[in-house]
Amino acid sequence: MSHNSDSQPTTALRRRLAELRGADVAPRPMDARALAALAANPGCRRRALLDGAGVDKGALAEALGSPAPFGQSQFAFVRGHSFEARVKGDGGAELMRLVHARTAAADSPAPEPGGVSVPDLSAPGPAGRAERTRQALERATADGGWTLLDHPMVRLEVAGSPVHLEPDAVAVHPDGRWTVVEIKSFPILDGSADPAKVGAAARQAAVYALALKALGGRVDERALLVCPKDFSNLPTAEAVDLRRQIATTRRQLARLTRLEEIAAALPEGATFDPARPPAELAGSVESVPAAYAPQCLSTCELAFHCRDRARCGGAVEVLGREVRGELGGLATVGAVLAAARDEARDTADGPPEEAAVNPAAAALRRAARLRAEALAAAGRS
Ligand code: SF4
Repeated sequence: MSHNSDSQPTTALRRRLAELRGADVAPRPMDARALAALAANPGCRRRALLDGAGVDKGALAEALGSPAPFGQSQFAFVRGHSFEARVKGDGGAELMRLVHARTAAADSPAPEPGGVSVPDLSAPGPAGRAERTRQALERATADGGWTLLDHPMVRLEVAGSPVHLEPDAVAVHPDGRWTVVEIKSFPILDGSADPAKVGAAARQAAVYALALKALGGRVDERALLVCPKDFSNLPTAEAVDLRRQIATTRRQLARLTRLEEIAAALPEGATFDPARPPAELAGSVESVPAAYAPQCLSTCELAFHCRDRARCGGAVEVLGREVRGELGGLATVGAVLAAARDEARDTADGPPEEAAVNPAAAALRRAARLRAEALAAAGRS
């Protein structure tokens, strides 16, 4: 993929992505949640292209007739916003107290009341805000005090194109460290929270940490997760180790195919404009290879559509990544059943030839034989 020196997508690619999205359809900006989900399934070109083109996958799924219940409810959204406003109130005093208590070095001075700098990061457009953030981080690091960056904007290159991301906050320590702050509305009960939710928050925080690392700062490899304490609206916080998520996300993002390459393989006239007829959309979606896995059900708006297609094709992917891996070259449920049934055709000459070269087929035959023996024994008793 050809890019200009600033790693911006070429004008031709931008135009192509806009065409795919549909005339007059505004791009949907990618966020850290989407990026973390993309990094968790780097083999899915379909998601990479749709996200990269800014397609509203929820609207696309609706137009395809397979809407998936997805995303936050309005109630959760409002509750999350009011909790975040409370956490950041009073010039960020309580938030910085939590940053100091959970992530600061032992000899680091606690932030004084009124002693936290909160720079103005407003600027026109995401690129302008990202530049303001970069300058603010540079200044805060040089100043050596406590600084709170409220909704900064950072930039990460994904599949050859820049993506702008907005963490809830970044705290700058007097020793120059930068800590990502994630504010969530799920509770920490008796010191522990839902591990799945903590894991998802950590994956998002890792995406922000990677974007901050690209700016060359000393990024804390622990994020501060701030949540309501027990059933109250009072904030409490825990430091979350990001080292594994940072390494995994970096590796997975590097595996993504560049958007230009995926777009170039599309047939003439492909479109993801939700206003187009469902059959046309289905053809376009089908023309981009997907990598369905049951995890898609909790991370991607197209999950019901992709699951239906995978089921129709008898793809073993619907059984999960582990089973898929165990089955080697057997790509469909039909092929798996045929391999297992071949046990019945085993003769004194030995198993069919395929079993000799395919350990999965041999294991299936063995399992089928054991099952048949067990059923026969149960029938005799
Ligand atoms: S649901 Fe479909 S498009 Fe989304 S990640 Fe899974 S396979 Fe890819």
